Amino acid sequence: GSRAADRTVDSVCPYCGVGCQITYHVRNDEIAFVSGRNGPANENRLCVKGRFGFDYVRSPQRLTRPLIRKEGAPKTDAVTAIDPRNPWTHFREATWEEALDLAARGLREIRDRDGRRALAGFGSAKCSNEEAYLFQKLVRTGFGSNNVDHCTRLCHASSVAALMEGIGTGAVTAPFNEALNADVVIVIGANPTVNHPVAATYFKQAAKRGTKLVVMDPRKQNGLARYASHYLQFKPGTDVAMLNAIMHVIVAEGLYDTQYVQAHTDGFEQLEAHLASFTPEAMEPVCGIPAATLREVARLFARAERAMVFWGMGVSQHVHGTDNARCLISLVMMCGHVGRPGTGLHPLRGQNNVQGASDAGLIPMVFPDYHSVKDPNYRAMLESLWGTQLDPEPGLTVVEIIDAIHAGKIKGMYIMGENPAMSDPDASHAREALAELEHLVVQDIFLTETAMYADVVLPASAWPEKDGTVTNTNRQVQMGRKALPLPGDARPDWWIIQEIARRIGLPWHYTGPADVFAEMTLAMPSLANITWERLMRESAVTYPCPAPDQPGQGVVFTDGVFPTPDGRAKLVPADIVPPAEQPDADFPWILTTGRTLEHWHTGAMTRRAASLDALEPEAFVTVNSKDLRRLGLKAGDRVRVSTRRGVIELMARQDNSVPEGVLFIPFCFVEAAANVLTNPQLDPYGKIPEFKFCAARLEPL
Ligand code: SF4
Repeated sequence: GSRAADRTVDSVCPYCGVGCQITYHVRNDEIAFVSGRNGPANENRLCVKGRFGFDYVRSPQRLTRPLIRKEGAPKTDAVTAIDPRNPWTHFREATWEEALDLAARGLREIRDRDGRRALAGFGSAKCSNEEAYLFQKLVRTGFGSNNVDHCTRLCHASSVAALMEGIGTGAVTAPFNEALNADVVIVIGANPTVNHPVAATYFKQAAKRGTKLVVMDPRKQNGLARYASHYLQFKPGTDVAMLNAIMHVIVAEGLYDTQYVQAHTDGFEQLEAHLASFTPEAMEPVCGIPAATLREVARLFARAERAMVFWGMGVSQHVHGTDNARCLISLVMMCGHVGRPGTGLHPLRGQNNVQGASDAGLIPMVFPDYHSVKDPNYRAMLESLWGTQLDPEPGLTVVEIIDAIHAGKIKGMYIMGENPAMSDPDASHAREALAELEHLVVQDIFLTETAMYADVVLPASAWPEKDGTVTNTNRQVQMGRKALPLPGDARPDWWIIQEIARRIGLPWHYTGPADVFAEMTLAMPSLANITWERLMRESAVTYPCPAPDQPGQGVVFTDGVFPTPDGRAKLVPADIVPPAEQPDADFPWILTTGRTLEHWHTGAMTRRAASLDALEPEAFVTVNSKDLRRLGLKAGDRVRVSTRRGVIELMARQDNSVPEGVLFIPFCFVEAAANVLTNPQLDPYGKIPEFKFCAARLEPL
């Protein structure tokens, strides 16, 4: 029949951090269809993106030749001035030789003239581990500084800051499938039926089997609400008040695990004293949850034999994101809910390889495996492995790099597979910075909004066109295999990075991703007993892995010993820090942003996937029906939403998942980019911006 395939290739879904294993069914070098495979994270299940989201690969808008900006073509307002289907107003085609020479020369000249800190790079959580590793190595050894970051900064940087401080590692303590073994599961600030759909199926399955599911979210999610025993729709930005009140009850009623606290934690007494004033009665008016409910949930969680906590961007994307995560760590630790089946802390990772890209070192303050750039021992090891001196000073983060461009300190950038013109807070400010750069090299599969500001655009590989490993939210390192030829003159990302590296003076001779992975195992103890050959054979191995013939360890810290300086988990009290911008007379609404089921992040892939775009074709803002009525609006009317940073126009969608006074806008629509509106204020520890809360105005059009 028309769906018959002439070959199949086993790989991993390119979208979310769940890491579903898939099989491509290929006919005439096209993906005819995709089926779910029996991977450890998905057991044959797939969501709509993994099943139907692949035609972006053959989009007519794919970049197939290197592009060079035409002499004198203006960079300002590139996003509105350039039509991605007809970029010839601003760009011309070039050979690889010319494009690579120009790309590298611009970077080299800035480095030699203005110093190594005048350059920066953004890598990508959508590329493989090998590509992430090569990219950060290029920045650290070729540019000469640690100015390398990626979208983890915009997603779980605060969670990682809290986890590193609390338990000495940024990764999850147990895979999400352990929800099936838990008596109680808390899901807070995450909307997994939309953003981690296959993980959500495990939460639903657990709930059906009797696990108590407690969902905490300022939005009433349609997906998990039906399965929840308790739904705490707290006021936006009041996480710490609510969580401290729950912990207050656990401490005051003596429900915590005394033995665990004594044997394995530090700081309980300070935390206990700190929590004294956070009574449920005092916190009820702050967070909007009845004191009785807070008490009930506290008792449920503490008395459970096994309980787990999952969280997402609703926790992390605040100026108090690190404090929110600190509360979750303290909550789990004081109850001893870690290190056993059905227990643990699990920040749900967003992108398919955000865990792996972070592990591989796309972070400005740490080398691969989270060793501080200030750690002289690891740095010396890396210097001998890489054969060069390394900068002991932490580099700048995503938002800091944008500010440093405005300040004239950073003059050149290399961006691989990221789209800050859409994903950064206060996007107009970010776009102005991209336009100000003296030299910008962008490597991507589409002429993204960011590539529109580039001097040189390098056409790269889509996930089904290359071999490489990725690491999912469960710490499972998985093998992705090449199924399709590259279109036109596009090249694998690892090859492009190496060509740039050679042209700025690095003696690189990698023969392919397997070669790079072999070097990574030398730099990264976390990959012990995991080899390329093994991944080719087994498709997935979890780290840490104790032996070459053993599966990796899903649940960690079984002995209660943490990789902190004294081996104990640190409990850190958190105070209430209000959101950086409060609604007022001019901007009376609360605006929050996020994703949709059909569109992935900035929409670069999914808006070019025909079936997904047909399902969700138009920019929208969700508004409560009472608010719509009050304003004399009806569903589908066009409205204007503005903040102190910008204004967009889009369709109002009636949706009572948002409470009155709150607006929600997905950030994937370029024609009404939510991030033109968002607040770039940063969490002081994780340096993550406050995407989840700012003051806005809504007007009928
Ligand atoms: Fe892909 Fe995530 Fe959907 Fe699985 S749940 S198919 S990994 S998008």
